[in-house]
Amino acid sequence: MAGDDFRELMDAMADPLVACDGDECVLYLNPAAERLLGWTLKELRGKPFTRLVPERLRSFDGYSFLRYLLGRRRALSGRPVRVFLVRRGEAELEVEVTVGTSMGADGERISVVLRRTPELPDYTDEPLERVSSLVHAHAPQPPGSAGERAYQLVFENAPLGLFHFDTAPTIVACNDYFVRIMGSSKRVLIGLNLLTLQDEAILTCVRDVLAGRHAYYEGEYRSVTASKLTPVRAHFAPCFGEDGQVEGGVVIVEDITEQRIAEAERNRLFREAQEAIRVRDDFLTIASHELKTPLTPLSLRLASLERRLERKEPVDPTLLRHARQHLVRLAALINDLLDASRIEAGRLALHFEPTRLDAIVERALTTMDAERGQHRFDYSHPAEAVRIRGDPYRLEQVIANLLENALKYSPADSTVRVTLDVRGDFALLSVADEGIGIPQDQQEQLFERYFRARNVSVTSYGGLGLGLYISRDIVERHGGRIWVESEVGRGATFYVALPLLSAASPTPPDPRPGTDSTHSMH
Ligand code: ADP
Repeated sequence: MAGDDFRELMDAMADPLVACDGDECVLYLNPAAERLLGWTLKELRGKPFTRLVPERLRSFDGYSFLRYLLGRRRALSGRPVRVFLVRRGEAELEVEVTVGTSMGADGERISVVLRRTPELPDYTDEPLERVSSLVHAHAPQPPGSAGERAYQLVFENAPLGLFHFDTAPTIVACNDYFVRIMGSSKRVLIGLNLLTLQDEAILTCVRDVLAGRHAYYEGEYRSVTASKLTPVRAHFAPCFGEDGQVEGGVVIVEDITEQRIAEAERNRLFREAQEAIRVRDDFLTIASHELKTPLTPLSLRLASLERRLERKEPVDPTLLRHARQHLVRLAALINDLLDASRIEAGRLALHFEPTRLDAIVERALTTMDAERGQHRFDYSHPAEAVRIRGDPYRLEQVIANLLENALKYSPADSTVRVTLDVRGDFALLSVADEGIGIPQDQQEQLFERYFRARNVSVTSYGGLGLGLYISRDIVERHGGRIWVESEVGRGATFYVALPLLSAASPTPPDPRPGTDSTHSMH
């Protein structure tokens, strides 16, 4: 068929068609191709076909786009290939192409039949070849075989990123999942030469695959185009042609972001559990030490008492008093332990009644007088009674704990200043010592269970780290606040603010330094 007949036939074809000469220059395109590509015959005639081919697809294994397709015709057995072409104005469009060649009187003629992909029937009915089929010899199956259909379905729907690359090594096909993981468009990814990636580990895998070996990659993949950092795990496998030569590789990519997050969370929980175990072990060590400390002198004193009684010698009441002090200490430790677990269980009972805070402070000071040693107590209070609503027993426990700490953490001949005052709707009690003080960064944590500041050593200052925890619970349940101000080496002042009986339901002052209420109170 020649001349006009041929042209008429081509014009009548519904499918777009481009005819080229042996040098791949355009001889003709039919109206359907003009519409699809946006070029007129006049504009394209004599121009190289590569004008219609995106830069990255212009060469495969050293062959031009058309020569490569022609070379694979037998393997494709007439099936079309899905590729991108460039429309007039640079926009790319995905089309299916089928190429053929014939010898005419004036030399070789290459015909390229195109179809727009959206107009194509679903490929589960009629499987399409993608560019990938150019480099991967499929098992010799008839077109549209169940195996190929299954492969396409897996390729498109696997919850994993999948891509193929050729020996160039250029990505020739990828699924949508891979596009999502990479955060670049398919257009950018297909045709991307893997050698341009900066990641040496990936390049090693690619080289292994091209040498016929499997490879494994795990790391943070930095997308070249979208600068997105994705933790991925990738399995690389070589693809062999019918002649046994490596024709490229297939890569299965897992996005392990979620796994990484889960791993970090597991590590965090593990560290927290370890920390909790450490705190518990430390606590057990301290608690055993604390409980045992009064026992030895107690047992010695009782033994000496027993000997004296046996020998009918007179018994010194100091001996008994000391023994009793050790017992009191033991009972206090055990009470603290019990109170702390009651607080944890929400079962520490308070019995509220109208009461006088000044009287409670005085009682606590009198009780502590026996423990004072060479310390001095300096107490100042308002002339009139300070009436509050509270649990006298538990409030005395709070004050006793503050006094005990002031004595414990300050030098023997120093003064402990106790001040009771009325500020607005609140009674404000402060206990100030001249002792070791508390590091700034630990002042917030003092009121937590088992917390002991790092400047107190177990051997020089006994304690379970429970007193302030219990005190805070008691004070806060009275609608009050407890806080501390201190500088290391310059003593500490503990404050307790409690609502006065006359106040309806006042808001306790803000313990944070620098706030108005704090200024007005100091
Ligand atoms: P304990 O004194 O039994 O360890 P507390 O709960 O009463 O437990 O106190 C917690 C921590 O607060 C103490 O271990 C200590 O580090 C610090 N602390 C409390 N009172 C004072 C104080 N007056 N001076 C210095 N540090 C103190």
